[in-house]
Amino acid sequence: MIRFAFPHWRPQLSDLNAFIAGLPKAELHVHHVGSASPRIVAELAARHPDSTVPHDPEALRDFFTFTDFAHFIEVYLSVVDLLRDAEDVRLLTFEIARDLARQQVRYAELTVTPFSSTSRGIAAEAFLDAIEDARVAAEKELGVVLRWTFDIPGEAGLPAAEETTRIATEMGPEGLISFGLGGPEIGVPRPQFKPHFDRAIAAGLHSVPHAGETTGPETVWDALTSLRAERIGHGTSSVRDPRLLEHLAEHRIPLEVCPTSNIATRAVEDLDDHPVREMVEAGVLVTINSDDPPMFSTDLNSEYAIAARLLSLDAAGIADLAKNAVTASFMDAPGKTRLNDEIDAYLTDWDPRH
Ligand SMILES: [Zn+2]
Repeated sequence: MIRFAFPHWRPQLSDLNAFIAGLPKAELHVHHVGSASPRIVAELAARHPDSTVPHDPEALRDFFTFTDFAHFIEVYLSVVDLLRDAEDVRLLTFEIARDLARQQVRYAELTVTPFSSTSRGIAAEAFLDAIEDARVAAEKELGVVLRWTFDIPGEAGLPAAEETTRIATEMGPEGLISFGLGGPEIGVPRPQFKPHFDRAIAAGLHSVPHAGETTGPETVWDALTSLRAERIGHGTSSVRDPRLLEHLAEHRIPLEVCPTSNIATRAVEDLDDHPVREMVEAGVLVTINSDDPPMFSTDLNSEYAIAARLLSLDAAGIADLAKNAVTASFMDAPGKTRLNDEIDAYLTDWDPRH
């Protein structure tokens, strides 16, 4: 339940930004390669001087300045090209955790696409060892708990789905908790992946496909009925179907909302037109996430600030939003209680005058 601020109360934006920066958070929709910040890319590029990625920090900053979706794909693929061995994968994963820790993220479900690496010659076992090694180190050294969603890159079709399912169900590492579906939605119908999701669910994984970002509400229905989605990645177009909103609210199926990403991909024309308020007002459990943050020139704190503006939230309302992510996460019950208590304590101690 989100508490809207009283309309006459206008908190200072800088106060709320400071509140958000220190707020303990959970991040549920963020991609592994898509989280490679310029700092991390510079470290990877230094390991591979032959790559086409700029090496000096200024050129790298320009390279990362989002221009359009085609440019995003170019940046994304150049990072994929920098992941050539298991050590690159380990470095990327641990450094992502460092960026999350700086934003006071305590728990993150990171969407990993093993197929991108295994299809480029990194053995699945070495890939899994690398991310697990980084996960254990991140928890111990940075206090960030990482869990994995392995996702099917939809554009790569059924062979990729088969390989992803095999890795998830036969080799699934300790940190793996869920199974997803990413990539483009147009021309990639969700129901074709039903057998793969069935196997993943039978192996104990949660179902968290992307749906309804660049297509209509019927794709969200497909994700619910064919893929048995427990959470929906984006689900932006759900607001076009009142019956769907009602279904999501009634069955407590959360939406993973990533405002800036929706603008970048043109799923939403303008931030001020973002349907997040309609989702909340319909009683849907909404979580705020960052998707591919450095590639869209954002981070989780900025996404919370945007949501606070769109939803007219004060500090208590923002804390409720953070608790939504805890509720919607696949953390165990003690973990949820601990993080919720930490959020409550932070809100109680918060004094915007200091
Ligand atoms: Zn995504």
